[in-house]
Amino acid sequence: MSNEQALRRDVALANRIIERFGLSNAFGHVSARIPGTNTFYISTRRSPGLADENHLLVIDTDGKVLSGEGVPNSEFWIHARIYAARPDVGSVVHAHPPACISLTQLGEPHRVVHNQGAGFADLPEYGRIGLIRSRELGDQVATSLGGGVAVMMRGHGISTAFKDVRAATVAACFLEESARLNLGMLAAAGGDGQRIRAFTREEALLADEQTGPGARASGRAWEYYSMVAEQRPLGG
Ligand SMILES: [Zn+2]
Repeated sequence: MSNEQALRRDVALANRIIERFGLSNAFGHVSARIPGTNTFYISTRRSPGLADENHLLVIDTDGKVLSGEGVPNSEFWIHARIYAARPDVGSVVHAHPPACISLTQLGEPHRVVHNQGAGFADLPEYGRIGLIRSRELGDQVATSLGGGVAVMMRGHGISTAFKDVRAATVAACFLEESARLNLGMLAAAGGDGQRIRAFTREEALLADEQTGPGARASGRAWEYYSMVAEQRPLGG
């Protein structure tokens, strides 16, 4: 399999993972930069659960569709402008995971409460409501993300940004798992976030090195998520 085919396969699979694992249903999209360029592969304007490696679009950071058949997702600007701002980023996931959205609408920060959530200390928030359908709004999301690995988008979802598509996808799954735990702990604590024994910054750094999306162990997570995604029916 050529590098191009392998990357296309991973992008399509990553899209199906975010749908099969409940991070998005009809909406949401994963992209990957074509290495060494200002262009990226992204799924067409369909559910990520329907993504097909033979029907991806190639778009550049100015939003120009260079190849592929079909219409781009209207929020492709999130991807385009993060790639423009961050040469180190090789993949962007944008999804609408319910637990992350719930945290933003409770006005509660994401707290690091378990190992797999350790990479998401002090996440920034993009507060504006509404879809990201312009270059200017894409730039605003990229500014909120800054040099980080993820941004919470109030009442909307998340975007993750990593060096490769596997890490960005595992990160999105880990972040939603962590947000679910946050919600459960908040509920068990009667809504009092102060009762949650969140990891200290040092603890989070240690755990992130061992089990975060960028750690070697995340390869096992990708293997698991991708195999489940291939066997689970559309709609989970
Ligand atoms: Zn969205």
